[in-house]
Amino acid sequence: MKIKKMQKRLFGTNGVRGVIGKEITPELALRIGQALGTMRPGHIAVGMDTRTSGPTLADALKAGLLATGCDVVDCGILPTPALQYIVKEHYDGGAMITASHNPPEYNGVKIIEPDGTEMGDEETIRLEEQLSDKSLPTKPWDRVGTEIAAPHLIEEYIQSIASQFPEKPGNGMTVVVDPGSGPACQTTPAILQALGCRIITINGIMDGTFPGRLPEPSPDGLKGLAALVVASKAAFGVAHDGDADRAVFIDENGSFIEENKEFSLITQHICRNAKGTIVTPVSTSQVVELIANKEGCTVQYTPVGSIYVARTMRELIAGGKQVVFGGEGNGGLIFPKHQFCRDGGMTAATMVSLLATTGQRLSLLVAQLPERHMIKEKIATPHGSRLIELLNKRYSQENIDCTDGLKIKRQNTWALIRASGTEPLIRIMVDANDKKAGSALYQEMKNSVSEILQTLS
Ligand code: MG
Repeated sequence: MKIKKMQKRLFGTNGVRGVIGKEITPELALRIGQALGTMRPGHIAVGMDTRTSGPTLADALKAGLLATGCDVVDCGILPTPALQYIVKEHYDGGAMITASHNPPEYNGVKIIEPDGTEMGDEETIRLEEQLSDKSLPTKPWDRVGTEIAAPHLIEEYIQSIASQFPEKPGNGMTVVVDPGSGPACQTTPAILQALGCRIITINGIMDGTFPGRLPEPSPDGLKGLAALVVASKAAFGVAHDGDADRAVFIDENGSFIEENKEFSLITQHICRNAKGTIVTPVSTSQVVELIANKEGCTVQYTPVGSIYVARTMRELIAGGKQVVFGGEGNGGLIFPKHQFCRDGGMTAATMVSLLATTGQRLSLLVAQLPERHMIKEKIATPHGSRLIELLNKRYSQENIDCTDGLKIKRQNTWALIRASGTEPLIRIMVDANDKKAGSALYQEMKNSVSEILQTLS
């Protein structure tokens, strides 16, 4: 069973996204609302992150839904995983106005399926076809939809996470939360408080101008969080991206934890309590597989993109497999007992449980993980897909994986070369247990790429 990636025109792997007034306009949001309303008649939940352009897009999208006869449930500002949870529990679909980790001038739309997952490739292509239809149907006066506001539903999401940890593992643990002025201001502090933690926040007031830091939770942007963790002698700090489906961590010494290490630590914690499969894209560091194997679990790889991880998890479970965890090496982690999407609030809560269970300091737990070295680089070329084909031939004698681009697997190291679907460039990634071996493999890949590119230009 392998889920294949399909090329879309407007939508990327995580919905449609762009700069407000350029790629993303109220007109586009209106048409998306009409197309979605035509495809998914029923009750559609709409939510947004804290971006300044959120209300204009949400109102346009809701108008499109109402015109096609859908009933709209306006959930207001909330994290993407909160809307996904609400849709899964109550509604026929959802639309989230968000540009996730992109800068403030961006915005976009993510479509949510009735089961709470992001819309898959095939359905998205159908939606795109509807969008290009000049005359989207609208309903007469007596069949247009109605709208209700449901800002209280966010409480259900908070409770659903808190109820996964009935023993309240926080027990007075101090945690500093940096929601980055995003929608998690309303959720993560409340979730961790419900687990018994003592909470301090930074960038804890919702503000679409993002005065404290950009929506991408990069080590540079989290210096304030790191300083506050040390000053308050907190057990850890947690920060989210702009729509809080991702969570990243700062240890008690103020050091940023690389996201593949975060993924590994939580893998270790989960695999100690349940055996089964971990699902992750081919771009995730091998450290996750090393840890999973050590704990008696296996890893299934997917194309790059959380939607492929989520859908593969669902399909494996439908086929009778035990799937215990999934996620990406960027702090986007999926807990199948809770829901099939990345969830930053759930990730933060799990870190509390992990520290309570081990009784060790976070920095020590990270130091015990196997050392890995990753190199990532982009090379501009319009010949991406042809290049991958030729590289495939060149390395056909080796242990290769074509799940997404070309992955060449050697002992303790791997290289991944992928062509971008949206830009004229390729991405090279190398992951190795040793710095020298990593650099050597990276150099080899770079040489092969430039040799082949010379024959193509
Ligand atoms: Mg996000």
